[in-house]
Amino acid sequence: MDINLIDIYNKLLEHYGYQKWWPGETQDEIIIGAILTQSVNWKNVEKAIKNLKRERLCTLKEIHKTPLETIAPLIRPTIYFNRKAEKLKNFAKFIYTEFDGDLDRMFSRDPAELRKKLLVVKGIGEETADSILLYAGNLPFFVIDAYTKRVFSRMGFIEEDSSYAEMQQFFINNLPLDVTLYNDFHAQIVMLAKTYCKKRNPDCGRCPIAIYCQKQYS
Ligand code: SF4
Repeated sequence: MDINLIDIYNKLLEHYGYQKWWPGETQDEIIIGAILTQSVNWKNVEKAIKNLKRERLCTLKEIHKTPLETIAPLIRPTIYFNRKAEKLKNFAKFIYTEFDGDLDRMFSRDPAELRKKLLVVKGIGEETADSILLYAGNLPFFVIDAYTKRVFSRMGFIEEDSSYAEMQQFFINNLPLDVTLYNDFHAQIVMLAKTYCKKRNPDCGRCPIAIYCQKQYS
């Protein structure tokens, strides 16, 4: 099968426009958002971030200094908030223990080695690590999430039960290594999955990339 992901990306870009991801004013906020967004709607993450900002706690430095019991209720909208507060604390501790709190120092490390290190932090999985590397660190790691899996398995490009690494390799093999492209392509996929390629009743009739899709629903 001929795969031209650039054509697919261009169709999405034409349809939705450039997405300007990740929503977040600072590197710290992007990282905090990437940790909080797992298994929850972004609107809820926004509420949690607003709460953290109100209390002047939306930085890794403040998260590192602040007890878990103070952080957890502020991020309650993100569900599993106790576990997520722990993840935030774990990540902040990692940054301060390994890099003295210096994100530039962290992101200047060898990217593949850094990814391995991030994955050792308790609670940081592949999707979160890659989101941090791509969106906060500007490093070329393609992010795979449930939306990517849904869209591209329906399109017939990847198997639904493929591993994270296999799915990521599919994008790496078929795209130039380009941070801006990786950044926006992932955002476009999320848009498509939320608007047309929904979990139930995908709207294939209006889908902007239907011509590339092998599994169009009626
Ligand atoms: S044609 Fe339908 S199944 Fe295929 S990507 Fe578009 S919405 Fe999803």
